[in-house]
Amino acid sequence: MYAYKPPTVSDTQSSNNYLDSTNQGRRKQNGSRPTSLAMPFQPDNFQTVGVGACIVNPENKIVGIGYNGMPNGCDDDLLPWSRYADDRLDTKYPYVCHAELNAIMNKNSADVKGCSMYVALFPCNECAKLIIQAGIKEVIYLSDKYHDTTEMTASRRLLNLAGIEYKQFKPKRNKIVIDFNSINHSGMHNGTLGIHSP
Ligand SMILES: [Zn+2]
Repeated sequence: MYAYKPPTVSDTQSSNNYLDSTNQGRRKQNGSRPTSLAMPFQPDNFQTVGVGACIVNPENKIVGIGYNGMPNGCDDDLLPWSRYADDRLDTKYPYVCHAELNAIMNKNSADVKGCSMYVALFPCNECAKLIIQAGIKEVIYLSDKYHDTTEMTASRRLLNLAGIEYKQFKPKRNKIVIDFNSINHSGMHNGTLGIHSP
């Protein structure tokens, strides 16, 4: 999910690089890294952003989560993570599994029919097919920055025909900070997180 070249304005606007927002790399789908829909990360000294997807059922309970990564059992170190190469086989694109695919495949319920999918980037046409076939009824996306590409246009066409609703998520805040030390703060013991003093 991470690669070795920092994204640039021209990178993110290139129609040839619609598959995800940025370079991503060296991450196992079943690894220990935390997952979010848009995860700032700093691999190999470059700040970049990962692409994630989360499926929730009608009760808003999470039933599947995924992020861009190489297929299970395929060693990240043996596959390219480049976005650019003379030979497409030397880029990540023929190999990487998109977050939407992984979220659907990682589901912890019998199926995801009637569920909603939250995703960092508007799904590409290939993921739109998966979303449709999986019975997902709604897609909530954060960014649609590849809106004008052929792939996204095809995706919207498919989603429209299948009657799948999609809407953009408008966050009330731009950043969430996870402070692991906050668990030790004094206020925690008096019901802040529902934890009672002994
Ligand atoms: Zn996709």
